Amino acid sequence: MRRPGGPGRAAEPGTVYLVGTGPGDPDLLTVKAMRLIGQADVALYDNLVSREIMALLPETAERVYVGKQRARHAVRQEEINALLVEHARRGKRVLRLKAGDPFVFGRGGEEIETLTAQGIAFEVVPGITAALGVAAYAGIPLTHRDHAQSCVFVTGNLRDGTIDLDWDALVRPRQTVVIYMGFANLPALCAALVAHGTAATMPAAIVQQGTTPDQKVVTGTLESLPELARAAGLAPPTLIIVGEVVRLRERLSWFEPGEAAQPPVDALRSTA
Ligand code: SAH
Repeated sequence: MRRPGGPGRAAEPGTVYLVGTGPGDPDLLTVKAMRLIGQADVALYDNLVSREIMALLPETAERVYVGKQRARHAVRQEEINALLVEHARRGKRVLRLKAGDPFVFGRGGEEIETLTAQGIAFEVVPGITAALGVAAYAGIPLTHRDHAQSCVFVTGNLRDGTIDLDWDALVRPRQTVVIYMGFANLPALCAALVAHGTAATMPAAIVQQGTTPDQKVVTGTLESLPELARAAGLAPPTLIIVGEVVRLRERLSWFEPGEAAQPPVDALRSTA
């Protein structure tokens, strides 16, 4: 059984740390993630873990890319699981870096099951999931007393290309819907929400690379968003937010992408 450690606790050799690295801005790392990153021997990372965050690893740390892209799996999940076990058995402090939070659309559970089965010690370090970070930097509150009393997170990466979501639950009033991995299916997703009862005029936003200097936000309605996103030339990773709360961005937008949102990497490293 693992006990919570104090701020200065050293990473344990032979342990795997499943670390959420947040949506991109390195300033959104947790203190614990920052500490472990500074102590890593090996880091297995995804394609969404930002370069700035990778730069915080010690120069001596071995970096292993295990990223996947939709429908094009670079490294199979079983191989990632096996790599984690192998490095831990060699007595390394192993970091499995995952964008956002490891337990939100991150397959963190699958990786841990293997570690448990193999008797490898592990810890899970939560991160700021894309919905929270991206909404904050886009100036879109996910709940609001006047507009949304609930918020749901769903994946738009549809199995076998078929739309298999609980649409009746998604079209409820006074609710914000956040869709991860929905870029390729944006037109189908917007059309399905309308077909199941959401107004075509419902405000909707798509945010590319939220929280980073490359953040782009396109807002419209369920009807207009697919064409607006196409015209803007957006590309993944993007997050789709649907609900009345999207309108608040007009007044609440604050983040100016392109400006140096973060201090230089060296300044961050000195605090590790
Ligand atoms: N575990 C991650 C999600 C991994 S799934 C988390 O908790 O955030 C990958 C999806 O996350 C992407 O397809 C995209 O929908 C979303 N995403 C992650 N980072 C993002 C970012 N900076 N901007 C927009 N979407 C992002």
